[in-house]
Amino acid sequence: MNSFICETCGTQYAPSERAPASCPMCDDDRQYVGWNGQRWTTHDALAATHTLQIGDDAGLPAFAMSNGFGIPQRMLLLRTESGNILWESLSLVTDAALQCLRERGGVDRIVISHPHFYASMVEWSEALGKVPILLNSADRAWVRRPARCIEHWHGDVLSLGGGGTLVRTGGHFPGSTVLHWASGPRGRGALFVGDSPQVASDRRSVSFMYSYPNYIPMRPADVRAMRDRLAPFDYDDAYGYSWGRNIIGGARAAVNASFDRYLAAVSG
Ligand SMILES: [Zn+2]
Ligand SMILES: [Zn+2]
Repeated sequence: MNSFICETCGTQYAPSERAPASCPMCDDDRQYVGWNGQRWTTHDALAATHTLQIGDDAGLPAFAMSNGFGIPQRMLLLRTESGNILWESLSLVTDAALQCLRERGGVDRIVISHPHFYASMVEWSEALGKVPILLNSADRAWVRRPARCIEHWHGDVLSLGGGGTLVRTGGHFPGSTVLHWASGPRGRGALFVGDSPQVASDRRSVSFMYSYPNYIPMRPADVRAMRDRLAPFDYDDAYGYSWGRNIIGGARAAVNASFDRYLAAVSG
């Protein structure tokens, strides 16, 4: 039995004798099937051909697939006042990454913004001592490798204690979640946004898409609801989904201006 991993989105599936017939994550209109057709790998095969980039992204320990695999998200270790959070997940777990995490106090829980970054989350949890994985319950149907370590949280806001708060921003996936860290690595507040919103390439603004690869804009009603839910939170930095894709300084004003820009653009 193998836990197969989709080569295009990087999602790991529950153990099976044969590779799944298709990847519902990639068949969905927010993603796409690889241009050479649906392809699968396994964690062992991936470990033989890939490694992880380990370093610093704007003051935080950061991890990403080193040579192009799946969606290029990066994973961050947040050493918060209420414990260590591993933000997002990757398809490959390596000994070097585990050692790096242990040297920094280990991981108390894993939090993931939305299904595109579930990756090999159960593999990570097990390697870190079966730590809990917090996912918003609205995306429960997208869990492809169920496990006891997965904890679904309900509603729009969840306090993690110690200045950490999860906010369901929706719009991209119904359960799309951002993490607000009141102090943040620079002591001025930080927002970790995943794909909803997404930090734009200019790193001075964000935008809002239902599908990023297929260019489907987010519904204005969803964007307005996101704006209302984020209004109470103060932060100076916003960390995007990939390495270096961050707004460092002035992020709250940049996000607020981006809400106005987007809603003006789509309302004509
Ligand atoms: Zn896939
Ligand atoms: Zn996404």
